[in-house]
Amino acid sequence: MIKIKNFINGKIVSPISGNYFENSSPVTGHNYSKVPDSDKSDVEYAVSSAKKAFLLWSKLSKKERYNYMMRLADEIENHSKELIEAESKDNGKPEWLAKSVDIPRSSENFRFFATASLHFSSEIHEMDGQAINYTLRQPIGVVGCISPWNLPLYLLTWKIAPALAAGNTVIAKPSEITPMTAFLLSKICKKARLPKGVLNIVHGYGHKVGEIISYHQDIPVISFTGGTSTGSKIASIASPMFKKLSLELGGKNPNIIFEDADFKSAVNMSIKAAFSNQGQICLCGSRLFVQDSIYNKFKESFVKKTKLLKVGDPKKKVDLGAIVSKEHMEKIFNYIQLAKSEGGKIICGGKRIILNGKLKSGYYLEPTIIEGLNYNCKTNQEEIFGPVVSIMSFSSESEVINMANSTDYGLSTSIFTQNVSRAHRVSAGIESGIVWVNTY
Ligand code: NDP
Repeated sequence: MIKIKNFINGKIVSPISGNYFENSSPVTGHNYSKVPDSDKSDVEYAVSSAKKAFLLWSKLSKKERYNYMMRLADEIENHSKELIEAESKDNGKPEWLAKSVDIPRSSENFRFFATASLHFSSEIHEMDGQAINYTLRQPIGVVGCISPWNLPLYLLTWKIAPALAAGNTVIAKPSEITPMTAFLLSKICKKARLPKGVLNIVHGYGHKVGEIISYHQDIPVISFTGGTSTGSKIASIASPMFKKLSLELGGKNPNIIFEDADFKSAVNMSIKAAFSNQGQICLCGSRLFVQDSIYNKFKESFVKKTKLLKVGDPKKKVDLGAIVSKEHMEKIFNYIQLAKSEGGKIICGGKRIILNGKLKSGYYLEPTIIEGLNYNCKTNQEEIFGPVVSIMSFSSESEVINMANSTDYGLSTSIFTQNVSRAHRVSAGIESGIVWVNTY
């Protein structure tokens, strides 16, 4: 059993209470690590060390901070093999995915923001010869970074890197379900000789450590990525305290295929959109809208290709690995049941896969396609966050825009069409932060 520890004031330390809880690997379903059950005293220790470090870190030149961050990026690359294995074991994703996305992008996060900080400029506003107004961006203090389990190190470093580049110090809380790569990051910080207290990592439960960070008077900035209801809770705590708040939340993203789309590419991209990372990506295309004139042909090809996807041992060349936890797998099954009760037909998948040997208790699920649901039923309105996609038909642009915009979410959308006017017209009508055309 690996004992994970906190990283506070430049030291790898046990939680002050000495309490731990156990965490399992979804790959095997067995417990393999002990995670600090940190509490207020650990957060207080981290806050005091981050405040002290702020006095030094915020006064360093941009170039000095850049040098430290580039060293962190180098060390992530030097330890990539260990990080890839840890990410896959903690999260269940195929190792090739951690190798091609999560880990390289984690080091890129440090490189990107370190470099960006050197080139930052701000606007001036000239007042008819009377005065010039300008904006000076200055470090604020200690930033609380709270991140989810689906891309553990990538999303955590995406929060930490800009905060450090801007001269702030950080208290980070990784997801309790996937703490291993953050623990390895503590060791990497030591190797990169990051000054003590600049980055502190406190492990533990969201409702405990996460909430203490959100409430803390001496943490004026909260950067959160995770579920919409957790984001709403954090906002209700941080907003009345006038904290600066960044929230990256959930999605129920439409994937729209028009009859004039490049058929092959649209099918392949739709598979990627629905099932990458076992469908556990906030940007996943979980509602698939296909124009009625090509609906049957598209459905047939989409189902056929989905049935060819390999689910299995994340160490091997599989398309899908394990679902992150037993609880999450059960939540996905509940949604599949709900879909059936709402009149949906499971036309592909829908069942648990039991692998052989050491992996027989792991959490593996067939990629699942549901047909026959109304666009506004619960299954099509709530985020499932698993390898489950609902396929529906539409007849016109206005109809599909209305269906796409019907949820409370608005994260991303994909549109597949060869008609450039239609691409612009539909993009403008879609209410989401990102619209991709002919890609995912
Ligand atoms: P959660 O909201 O459950 O958890 C996110 C983080 O918040 C975890 O570290 C969690 O800790 C912590 N947390 C939980 N409760 C509280 C609380 N009361 N106060 C403070 N922190 C708390 O999300 P998941 O980890 O389940 O991640 C999946 C969600 O994240 C999906 O909805 C997905 O769409 C979204 N997401 C959004 C992205 C975006 O960029 N928009 C990117 C990736 C995911 P713990 O795990 O220990 O409970």
